[in-house]
Amino acid sequence: MKWYEIRDVSRLCILRSMSVNLPYQTDNPRELPVKFEQSNMTTRILSGKEIAAAIKAEAAAEIDELKAKHGIRPGLAVVRVGDDPASAVYVGSKVRTSEEVGMISEHHHLPSGVPHAELLSLVKSLDTRDEVDGILVQLPLPKQVNEREILEAIDPLKDVDGFHPVNAGRLAQGEDALVPCTPAGVIEILKRSDIEIAGQHAVVVGRSNIVGKPMAMLLLQENATVTICHSRTRDLSSITRQADILVAAIGRPGFIRGEHIREGATVVDVGINNVSDKNYAYELFGEDEIERRLAAIEKRGFTLVGDVNPREAKEKAANFTPVPGGVGLLTVAMLMKNTVKAAKARRRI
Ligand code: NAP
Repeated sequence: MKWYEIRDVSRLCILRSMSVNLPYQTDNPRELPVKFEQSNMTTRILSGKEIAAAIKAEAAAEIDELKAKHGIRPGLAVVRVGDDPASAVYVGSKVRTSEEVGMISEHHHLPSGVPHAELLSLVKSLDTRDEVDGILVQLPLPKQVNEREILEAIDPLKDVDGFHPVNAGRLAQGEDALVPCTPAGVIEILKRSDIEIAGQHAVVVGRSNIVGKPMAMLLLQENATVTICHSRTRDLSSITRQADILVAAIGRPGFIRGEHIREGATVVDVGINNVSDKNYAYELFGEDEIERRLAAIEKRGFTLVGDVNPREAKEKAANFTPVPGGVGLLTVAMLMKNTVKAAKARRRI
């Protein structure tokens, strides 16, 4: 712990708004103490940029080898329904990256009112085409479409999102499977940053089929002791504070705060949320980031925020993944890996 002397009330107010551990609570600046405590923790920021670039380069090298030795160029078909702007950005990035690494890429864009039967028939036709190695149907789908039926219609061998029950079941049984890209990316970040997983207590907050559950299964496969928390978990912070590795996949901006984090923990933030409230931005970001974030809100109307309060995480965590620039970058890179893996497995290479 380090003691800082406060000489200037306005600076103290900024520090208080940053929830630095003040010895007591008061709203009257005259009552504020002249000293406050702050942790000496220096946090390593686990950037996803270099790791994602390395994984894409590995996929590109494997594709070159497949072309040279077997005359095969893996193919990825991406299906998008409707005009959700976030989906358009994600799909655009997936199509662009698959072309960059040397795959054949197909983009099927259907109107938001497409009947369920028509989407199902597209998926089934992609299943039968030999040059298509991976099929990805971007979620969410409109109400008239039965999402489960569509995902289950994808051939498990081409299911590069890893959402098919066959792949989920294989993962749960510890068998080789096509694994959901985001949690697979988290494992890559941990391993490539030399963070020990085996024997560590990993706490995953969130139990969705696309992030939380497969994340827990993958951590278990890496021999972590795993706890899964969700919206019905009692006294969440008492559990998350036991975590050596804390993974947040909740969908609520800045939900995980300092009180949830054990000093020295590794905190992985999977969340992607838009924050447009400038006052809330002050609660989330420290002096190092706030100006940039306010400028983003001014310019685009929002700034991207994870499920962890980054300012408070940096006071406690030894390792922390930023948003943006952390886990999100790994998702597309792992999709490339999965498509190459699917192309090889289907041809028994
Ligand atoms: P989701 O399906 O909405 O699941 C959220 C989970 O959080 C649920 O299991 C829910 O519990 C739990 N939860 C909600 N409120 C909680 C609370 N107060 N305390 C404890 N747990 C709570 O979301 P998702 O699809 O898993 O996504 C999670 C986050 O990851 C989102 O921010 C999403 O944008 C982001 N994401 C990022 C990527 C990427 O590429 N980086 C990919 C996918 C998702 P219940 O089950 O009890 O309802």
